[in-house]
Amino acid sequence: MRIGHGFDAHRLVQGRKLILGGIEIESDAGALGHSDADVLAHAISDALLGAAALGDLGAHFPDTDERWKDADSMELLGHCSAQVSREGYRIENIDATIIVQRPKLAPYIARMRENIAARLAVSLAQVSVKAKTSEGMGYTGDGSGIAAYAVTILAPVS
Ligand code: MG
Repeated sequence: MRIGHGFDAHRLVQGRKLILGGIEIESDAGALGHSDADVLAHAISDALLGAAALGDLGAHFPDTDERWKDADSMELLGHCSAQVSREGYRIENIDATIIVQRPKLAPYIARMRENIAARLAVSLAQVSVKAKTSEGMGYTGDGSGIAAYAVTILAPVS
């Protein structure tokens, strides 16, 4: 078994969409980034790559590369999953936490899980997504940013 951990954070600004797990969230601010700035997809991608010791998302999809400008991060997640498969692993489970003060994400969690499970070709029970606030503290609490953490376990394909 291999364990992987991922973290990501993005600035929240006016005039950008907020996309989490490939789902567009109704919000007065969106995440700033070279790609679609899907902080959840990025944290999970890094967890997958990390578990297989394949480096990080930035190394695979540099933000200096025009090809990844406004990239659909769920596509990038799919690429990471394919790389992990090529290394001879399958995903056992994923557990992720998004930290943001607002908007409230509870109404979107089920759709995020479904979307991620479908992209990774795993069952819904293998994908956990949780959302928390940081009780008003720090950049995730004052509305200036959003963060996500993810862990995953990979098992060798027998
Ligand atoms: Mg990112």
